[in-house]
Amino acid sequence: MSSGSGSLMWFRKGLRIHDNPALEYASRGTTRVYPLFVIDPHYMEPDPNAFSPGSTRAGINRIRFLLDSLADLDSSLKKLGSRLLVLKGEPSQVLIRCLNEWDVKKLCFEYDTDPYYQALDNKVKNYASAAGIEVFSPVSHTLFNPADIIEKNGGRPPLTYQAFLKLAGEPSWASSPLSVELSSVPPVGDVGTCEISQVPTLKELGYEEEDQDEFTPFRGGESEALRRLRESLSDKEWVANFEKPKGDPSAYKKLATTVLSPYLKFGCLSSRYFYQCLKDVYKNVKRHTSPPVSLVGQLLWREFFYTVAFGTPNFDKMKGNKICKQIPWNDDDKLLAAWREARTGYPWIDAIMVQLRKWGWMHHLARHSVACFLTRGDLFVHWEKGRDVFERLLIDSDWTINNGNWLWLSCSSFFYQYNRIYSPISFGKKYDPNGNYIRHFLPILKDMPKEYIYEPWTAPLSVQTKAKCIIGRDYPKPVVSHDTASKECKKKMGEAYALNQRLNGVVSEEDLRKLR
Ligand code: FAD
Repeated sequence: MSSGSGSLMWFRKGLRIHDNPALEYASRGTTRVYPLFVIDPHYMEPDPNAFSPGSTRAGINRIRFLLDSLADLDSSLKKLGSRLLVLKGEPSQVLIRCLNEWDVKKLCFEYDTDPYYQALDNKVKNYASAAGIEVFSPVSHTLFNPADIIEKNGGRPPLTYQAFLKLAGEPSWASSPLSVELSSVPPVGDVGTCEISQVPTLKELGYEEEDQDEFTPFRGGESEALRRLRESLSDKEWVANFEKPKGDPSAYKKLATTVLSPYLKFGCLSSRYFYQCLKDVYKNVKRHTSPPVSLVGQLLWREFFYTVAFGTPNFDKMKGNKICKQIPWNDDDKLLAAWREARTGYPWIDAIMVQLRKWGWMHHLARHSVACFLTRGDLFVHWEKGRDVFERLLIDSDWTINNGNWLWLSCSSFFYQYNRIYSPISFGKKYDPNGNYIRHFLPILKDMPKEYIYEPWTAPLSVQTKAKCIIGRDYPKPVVSHDTASKECKKKMGEAYALNQRLNGVVSEEDLRKLR
């Protein structure tokens, strides 16, 4: 049995003080708490071979967002009489070393359903149990425990949003007060020989300021999350009337949605607190929208995907994933690179991809447009390749939600109307006929007349010359003709669906090869 008396609070996501049951439990009945964050160099340090600044797994914007969030957490902990301990290394090895060296009887961390954390946590939990250290790992990243919903459904995840809503009902904690304020955290104990550092700066991690031409406008941290939440909720009418499909994906000055996703991803904002605040607004208005389109409905989409992902082996792959249609996607790296590097020649698509690189965030329908274009709409590139690009560059990159939405957009699961394709020309034009969004993110097209801004290759040479943008020289020609490519994609999707039906989903590599 452990002879320790303190607690180790292991932060990973859940980078907040409010509604943090693991931190609360760690602080209770003890005189010492070690609040720890482990920097995994693989996740944080520059990869010189990556296609854009950042590490192998994360773009520079998300790394900066995380550092902001850690600095904010450290500052909040200091106000409570503690501080954040930062260590570098492979997380399970660092944890085990700390459990060995420090005076610890309780190990507390937020439960995480991502496969990466499931594997890591099992290792650490096994070690702690063998050492007689109590482990407390509550569910606080999501509104529901996905395992409970799956159990209610006879051991299988519900595969539609409506079925999920029926099973989920109102969360059990919904009307109880959440711990919003924590008045103090016991001080840090003796750290032995561990080399504790401060929250590093980007420079200390090996990045140069000039690595990125423009940083995301969104700064990380709990303080910013709560400020943003208050700001979003202050307009009660807006909250009450929120209807996701009606938002404008081209809005870049006054955004159509909350942009709370990166804060929810890192747990700077508790989804439960967000949910309760929304319910409070609803109580004080005459009428409000409902799921799936309301703001509460958005949080429930998150829960839906968390539940399905947790109950579906190989959720992040086509092969071996029972809920995923087997489709003969191509591996055309040239087309993939054109999409990733905003060189498709379709300004609407390219502007969104520039926003992804510069901001790490785009509106949901903008994500729809580019995901559809890459996969079943035009290029027929494998959704896993697009998923990887989003996973690295989004500041809200979330293993579950990202995979879930790529499955959806590629018509591989959840949504099957592959004949409904987003036009890379008319979809954006509907919201932004003047093309202001394109002019902002693709300044090379800023002087293109509005008649041509969505299809600049159709502009006469004299117009291109006047706009100082010659198509094929200053801005690319379209990589495919949308009319031809989308017809071809629909045909291939039809054949693949028929094959999946005929073979009852048990489609081999050989079967797919015949369709290519
Ligand atoms: P709001 O509309 O203000 O919604 C509030 C919250 O609800 C969001 O912050 C988010 O946590 C949740 N939410 C909203 N829409 C969805 C949805 N469709 N699925 C699940 N949860 C949702 N979202 C991520 O958080 N991380 C991702 O990695 C991610 N990848 C995506 C990939 C693709 C291809 C697509 C089409 C969508 C993806 N989304 C992802 C979902 C969605 O686009 C974002 O959650 C949303 O745009 C975030 O902006 P917001 O916070 O202003 O959303």
